[in-house]
Amino acid sequence: MPISEDVVVIGGGLSGGVAALMAARTGASVRLISHKESTLRHASGLIDVLGYLPDGTGPIVNPFDALDELPNEHPYSVVGETAVREGLTIFDEIVGEMYAGGHTDTNALVPTQGGTVKPTARYPQSVAAGLASDERDMLLVGFEALSDFDAPLAAEHLAAAGVPFETQGVTVQFPEDLRDDARITRFATALERDSNTRALADAVESHLDGAERVGFPALLSKDTVRSELGTRLGKPVFEIPGGPPSLLGLELAERLFETLDEAGVHISSGVPVVGHETDGNDERVTAVLVDRNGQTHPYHAEQFVLATGGLVGKGIDTDRDGVTEPIFDCYIPHSEDRYDWFSNEAFGDHSFARFGIVPSEGLQPTDANGEIEFENVRAAGSVVGGADIASEKSGSGVSLATGLIAGRNAGEAI
Ligand SMILES: Cc1cc2nc3c(=O)[nH]c(=O)nc-3n(C[C@H](O)[C@H](O)[C@H](O)COP(=O)(O)OP(=O)(O)OC[C@H]3O[C@@H](n4cnc5c(N)ncnc54)[C@H](O)[C@@H]3O)c2cc1C
Repeated sequence: MPISEDVVVIGGGLSGGVAALMAARTGASVRLISHKESTLRHASGLIDVLGYLPDGTGPIVNPFDALDELPNEHPYSVVGETAVREGLTIFDEIVGEMYAGGHTDTNALVPTQGGTVKPTARYPQSVAAGLASDERDMLLVGFEALSDFDAPLAAEHLAAAGVPFETQGVTVQFPEDLRDDARITRFATALERDSNTRALADAVESHLDGAERVGFPALLSKDTVRSELGTRLGKPVFEIPGGPPSLLGLELAERLFETLDEAGVHISSGVPVVGHETDGNDERVTAVLVDRNGQTHPYHAEQFVLATGGLVGKGIDTDRDGVTEPIFDCYIPHSEDRYDWFSNEAFGDHSFARFGIVPSEGLQPTDANGEIEFENVRAAGSVVGGADIASEKSGSGVSLATGLIAGRNAGEAI
């Protein structure tokens, strides 16, 4: 049977999820098609809106005060401040009590597993007792079997960053004998056993040395484990975001998909969109082509949202011949000379970081002359160009704001 919906959203990351939800809220029938897991499972679970300006100025205290300083081609400049605020409001609705930070416009400063302090707009509740603006002395705890997190080094880095409290780090033996390369989920599951939580608290207690809060890598997973450890240690316990993979990111992805289910969004996962069909004038897309076990099937819709991610998500492809958007072959501006894509310095201004679709005001992709390529396609998230989300710390904010506008516009156009 041919599949036909009002709106098809391609991509199951934060931007695609928000776009699908917004389109469904207009009353449209919506299908979300996603190939692989999104970057949420790698990301820290922190919702960054704007931590630094493109020239490196920062950390930014209030992202909304800084929006005017972004260049015109930045996605925030295209969608405007209201969209950024509404994107966060939708996020707050999706996560409810799971997250904190919604009480203020100001960025929170969250210690990460690398020992840096990250300016972020929203953070999981389990992270809240670790904020760097809080002056209580801190003990960080790592495990011998978890080489990704070096607690003493992270504590040193935090001290060097000038945090207003004493930091110490200790590496203890994990209560259960897990393999050196055990998955983070195995640590989390092991800690759900009461005997392990008890043993861990005993192992940490002798290292407290005046610390007023205790941070563990983000693998406590269940709030009950965190509160049990806190009760036994007599101190607030918090998680330090890290990854990949990231349990905090996975939990967020699960919550997002629960919300989509509740909103009645149809979901097709594990299948790639490999192309599209257009009407006679080539101005409207009539269907996207989905590869199911080697056979191509058209999924028809009135409106489409492209939320396939950036270079990491495979929404943008690079090869020797250039930079492409593989589904609609949208225009992606880039220099012919590949050496211009990179800066000589590792943390320099790499133009590849801003590669992506050039959006119209309504987020339709535009061509080299600034003309809209397809009136019924809108782009959202990291497939949109103009922002260096990694260095600005703006990834989730861009996904929320553009996902909101793309999805709502698509739904309202029905
Ligand atoms: C390691 C890492 C850490 C990060 N940490 C943070 C952080 O701490 N804070 C923060 O705010 N942001 C962070 N980010 C960035 C943030 O995760 C992304 O900016 C944001 O989530 C991008 O979402 P997206 O929806 O645009 O794309 P993605 O999450 O990349 O999702 C794209 C989706 O599209 C699907 N897709 C792609 N091509 C096709 C196709 N042809 N057919 C069907 N489906 C397709 C993919 O399978 C995927 O499901 C991090 C990113 C990474 C990689």
